[in-house]
Amino acid sequence: MRIVIFGPPGAGKGTQAKLISEEYDIPHLSTGEIFRSAIKNETELGKEVKAILDAGELVPDDKVVALVKEKLKESKYDGGYILDGFPRTVPQAEAFDQILNEKGKRLDVFLQLDVPEEELVKRILSRGEGRSDDTPQKVKNRLKIYQKETQPVLDYYKKQDVVKKIDGVGSIEEIFDRIKKVLQ
Ligand code: ADP
Repeated sequence: MRIVIFGPPGAGKGTQAKLISEEYDIPHLSTGEIFRSAIKNETELGKEVKAILDAGELVPDDKVVALVKEKLKESKYDGGYILDGFPRTVPQAEAFDQILNEKGKRLDVFLQLDVPEEELVKRILSRGEGRSDDTPQKVKNRLKIYQKETQPVLDYYKKQDVVKKIDGVGSIEEIFDRIKKVLQ
């Protein structure tokens, strides 16, 4: 199964993606986690993207697409995967379609985690993960960028008839139960 989990910052994509990965035994690919780990390990990629993540801006499309394309070549992704944080812009979605087409594959489900904006800010500011982009000003910026750059990705996938909207308010277990119902 090839799944994209989509939603605004703070929607709980990472948390649910991990649960889905375990339950369905498919690898979890999180672009945000790749970038944070590269920054922590001070790799070349980490140096390139540190200032961008710190500011809550988006990493350029060509860089993200090249990264995901390389990753998906690994055989562990052959049997499916859950993508978290990608595609985040319409050009990324188009590039992802091309990657899939080249392999003769298609996306099975686009899970849209639906959470109201007040709830998002509250969650991010209280999650206490110590992320450098979790300050009030940067969260505001990330939400603004989400609305402008990322929200249109939803309309892109609506045309492909793969979107499943999940109510993202509730306990982690409640939300995961909703996801499992949809994936059955
Ligand atoms: P969140 O959804 O809470 O913002 P992520 O871990 O998905 O958290 O992303 C953290 C940051 O990593 C983003 O603010 C952005 O700077 C960068 N990033 C992650 N994925 C992408 C992507 N697909 N395109 C551009 N930038 C990305």
